Amino acid sequence: MATYARQAVAFERGAGVWLWDTQGERYLDALSGIAVCGLGHAHPDVARAIADQAATLVHTSNLYQVPLQAQLAARLTALSGLKQAFFCNSGAEANEAAIKIARKYGHGRDIAVPTIVVAEGSFHGRTLATLSATGSRKVQAGFEPLVQGFTRVPFDDLEALRRVAEHQRDVVAVLIEPVQGEGGIRVPSADYLAGVRALCDQHGWLLMLDEIQTGMGRSGHWFACQGAGVVPDVMTLAKGLGNGVPIGACLAGGKAAGVLQAGNHGSTFGGNPLACRAALATLDVIERDGLTRRAAELGARLQGALRERLAGCAGVVDVRGVGLLIGIELDRPCGALVQRALDRRLLINVTAERVVRLLPPLIMSDDEAAQLLDTLCPLIVDFCA
Ligand code: PLP
Repeated sequence: MATYARQAVAFERGAGVWLWDTQGERYLDALSGIAVCGLGHAHPDVARAIADQAATLVHTSNLYQVPLQAQLAARLTALSGLKQAFFCNSGAEANEAAIKIARKYGHGRDIAVPTIVVAEGSFHGRTLATLSATGSRKVQAGFEPLVQGFTRVPFDDLEALRRVAEHQRDVVAVLIEPVQGEGGIRVPSADYLAGVRALCDQHGWLLMLDEIQTGMGRSGHWFACQGAGVVPDVMTLAKGLGNGVPIGACLAGGKAAGVLQAGNHGSTFGGNPLACRAALATLDVIERDGLTRRAAELGARLQGALRERLAGCAGVVDVRGVGLLIGIELDRPCGALVQRALDRRLLINVTAERVVRLLPPLIMSDDEAAQLLDTLCPLIVDFCA
C-alpha cells in the first residue's frame, strides 16, 4: 500500500552511524531509523545476542514463563522506578496498553466514561485509539469516528490543565510526551512535568508519559522525565528499546500497578525471547558504555555548535532539544532539505513542516558529529539564503 512517501534510496548494509546503499554509496545516519538504532547499525554486541538467541529459542508464547522477559522487566522497572512491565511490539501498542490501564483504573473508581487528557501537537501512534489521542488532524483525518474519551489541552500549559480539573469530573489520566518529538522537538518549561505530576496527585489522575521517542538514553537520562525529577505512574517505551528489533513496553507503578489482571490484555509476540534478548543486550551496552552521559554531552555540544554556526542565518528561528533529540526550527517549510541532505549523503528528517530533526545514534563519535555539522550547516544556510 502506498502508505509511505519513500525516498528513492535503499540501504543494504550498516555499521555504526554509517549506511551503504545498493550502489555502494556511504551515508551518515543522523536519524537512527527515527530514534530506533541508538547503538547504530549492526552493533556487534546486539548482533551476537540476536544470533545466539535465534539459534537457541525465538518464541514460545505468553502461555508459559519467559525468563528473558522477566529479566528485562526487572531491569526496566529498576531503571524507571516503576513496578511492572507489559511487553508488546510497537509504540502504538504500548500506548494502547496505557490507555486500557487508564480506563480500567477509572472504572475501578466508578467513573463511567473515563477521560484521558492529551496535548495539542502530540503524537502517540497510528492505531485508532492512539491516533485519537494524537494532537494532529493530519493523522486523524479520514479515520473518523475517533475513539472517545480524550480531552485536549495545549502542551506546556499548566493553567489549561487546572481548568480541566475544575470543570471535568471524569478525568482519570494525563498522557503526554516529556518532549514532543513528531510535534517539532517541543521542550516544555522546566517546571511543567513536575507541575503535571502535582496536579495528577492532587486529583487522583494517572500521569502517563510516552517516552517512546525520548526514552532509552537519548535525552541524556535513561528516560527524559528523570531530567525533570518526575516519576510517572505509567511509562511507554518502544523505538530504541531493541535497537531495531521490534519491542514495546508499558511500565506501571504507583496507582497504575496491578490495574491489569490476568485476561485483561495480551500480545502473541509481546516480549518473546528474541526481542527481550535484543533489548537486554541494548541495555547492557548503554550502561557499559555510559551512553546516557554521552548523549547529554554530545547533544549539548551539537546544539551549541549549531547555534554558533547558524547564528547569522535569519531563517533559523530556534535550535532546541534535550540530549540527542535536536530540532532546528526554520521560518519556512523545509521538507526539501531532506532530499538536499540525502544528495550530500546525510540522513535527516523534517517534522512539523519547519523543524529539521536530528536523532543521531548515541554512539556517534566527535569526528562523525563534526562531519554532520560540516554537511548540515551549509545546507541550512544555503536553503535560507
Ligand atoms: N509515541 C511517540 C512519541 C512516537 O514518536 C511514536 C512514533 O514515532 C509512537 C508513539 C508510535 O510508535 P510506533 O510507530 O512504534 O507505533
